[in-house]
Amino acid sequence: MIGQRNMARPEKLFKILESIDGRGYGAYKEIAGRYDHGEYILFIDRVQSDPFASPSRVRINVPAGVAGLPADCIQDHAGRVAVGDFLARQAVTAIRRHARGIRGSGSSGLIQIDAPGQEILERTAVTVRPGGIVDARIYMGLPARNRLIAAGTLKKMLRHEIPPIIQDSFLSQNLDGEALAAHVQWNRDQEALRAQLHGRNLVAFLPVGAVLPRRSGVDDRPLTGNQVVALEPPPELRTTLTLPDGRSLAGLGIPAGITLIIGGGFHGKSTLLHAIEKGIYNHLPGDGREGVVTDASAFKVRAEDGRKVEKVDISPFITNLPFGRNTRAFSTDLASGSTSQAANIMEALSAGSRLLLIDEDTSATNFLIRDRRMQLVVPPGSEPITPFIDRARDLHRKLGVSTILVLGGCGDYLDVADTVIHMDGYRPLDRTARAREVAAAHPTGRTQEASPLPENPFPDRKLLMATFADPSSLRGDAKIRPRGKDSILYGKKPIDLSALEQIVCDSQVTALAEGLRLVRDDIADGKRTVEEVVALVAERIEHEGLDALTRRPTGGLALFRPIELAAVINRIRSLQVVQER
Ligand code: ADP
Ligand code: MG
Repeated sequence: MIGQRNMARPEKLFKILESIDGRGYGAYKEIAGRYDHGEYILFIDRVQSDPFASPSRVRINVPAGVAGLPADCIQDHAGRVAVGDFLARQAVTAIRRHARGIRGSGSSGLIQIDAPGQEILERTAVTVRPGGIVDARIYMGLPARNRLIAAGTLKKMLRHEIPPIIQDSFLSQNLDGEALAAHVQWNRDQEALRAQLHGRNLVAFLPVGAVLPRRSGVDDRPLTGNQVVALEPPPELRTTLTLPDGRSLAGLGIPAGITLIIGGGFHGKSTLLHAIEKGIYNHLPGDGREGVVTDASAFKVRAEDGRKVEKVDISPFITNLPFGRNTRAFSTDLASGSTSQAANIMEALSAGSRLLLIDEDTSATNFLIRDRRMQLVVPPGSEPITPFIDRARDLHRKLGVSTILVLGGCGDYLDVADTVIHMDGYRPLDRTARAREVAAAHPTGRTQEASPLPENPFPDRKLLMATFADPSSLRGDAKIRPRGKDSILYGKKPIDLSALEQIVCDSQVTALAEGLRLVRDDIADGKRTVEEVVALVAERIEHEGLDALTRRPTGGLALFRPIELAAVINRIRSLQVVQER
């Protein structure tokens, strides 16, 4: 990667800076290039066009010999991801300590790095190459005074701020070695725990003592204080998994099949489910959820009325719509609560999910259940919905798909549950046996509504090139722009991601937007299905890292799952697919 071509000494950079000082901002373009500082190489990759544009992109490479990262920490992928994550967190702190912040117009004087959250995710902010080179990507606001170049300020940043940030963040000798080793070990441990689930017939595992509640809806750090109830599994569901070093870890194991999480309001049901949703990621030591692991294909499905649906077979749940609308290739620009939830499930299953996570709080009631009385009042022929309660068992027996369902309000589900967890004052109790008794003693009188699962409910859906044309622009090429955590602007219309609850940060959305661009420009050919397309993107990332998504290196990307990219594609307002059986 680090060629000697066009490599200059830092003196050259300072010379250029002297010559452009006080000139129009555009002259900053001259400093683009690579500068060998010995201890590190500074790449000025992209120079902003004015002080108010997005800050300039700068890369710092620290040679392996200088960084001196412990070999045992960086020998495997999980280790390198954890070290990169650790270094990025160091850099956030070091920037706070050493950078003097904005001084002047726009972003003048800014030094920034993409800050990780509570997950340890592969990201481009700091990556560690197999040989131990550290590749860090930061953003700098090139300083201006009245839109003219303030070279003196930039010199100060380069001489007095950048070097101590590098030293404190990326040089092994200045790092807390024990904390680094623990970070790496936890990341590897969580991978190993997740890998054991399937063989143990589990879909999720939560260690004894885990702290599940978060500080607030906008603060993902663990809740603290004496009100916090740490997780204590009920004896019936207690199980132990083995860590790579041979130690065993005890916790609550949720078996495959249909699991209900029941209990009174405000007793911690949704909190438990949220922790399970996020168990597809590895968490930081100290997060409280480190060691909480879930089947990697787990997908949270909810009602999402208003979404677009394009040729999805929702017939396992919905048939006989008014005016004889086809539900084996169901399309709408405005889905209802139940049709959106049905489409979300069918799309998740075609994208390979083997664990559905559902919360009554965010579900359509008529999708979950129709009770005896309603069955009597509304005759079968005039109700299009086969409620989930009548499909859940089929999904498990025929397709091997498990469900974890939070449900406080409907006892009819006791008939279909394999495991019943009662959250009582934040303590999980096993109520499976009691639930069986109650179900036997108090029959619901419901009639099973499901007809057999249709043949091949997952038809091929081939992406048409027209999918990617922006109907509102003459050129046809939609601009793709990430907008925070919940939206990607596609042409003039946003793709709404707010129902995709397992996306955890803006950087994942930025990467998803780049993934979408790659699909459009390089992969979708009118012959490939949604699933084939996202699998190809995932393959490229696996081989080349996240840089496979962008033409030039950029620091703001975090890894996403193929299933989320499929979900993004499925939400494009102008989506067109050809369904083939
Ligand atoms: P439910 O879904 O059962 O109505 P929630 O999961 O939304 O309940 O939890 C209700 C409140 O209790 C939330 O504010 C949550 O942060 C808090 N909480 C959840 N679990 C715990 C726990 N183990 N210890 C302390 N507080 C908790
Ligand atoms: Mg709830």
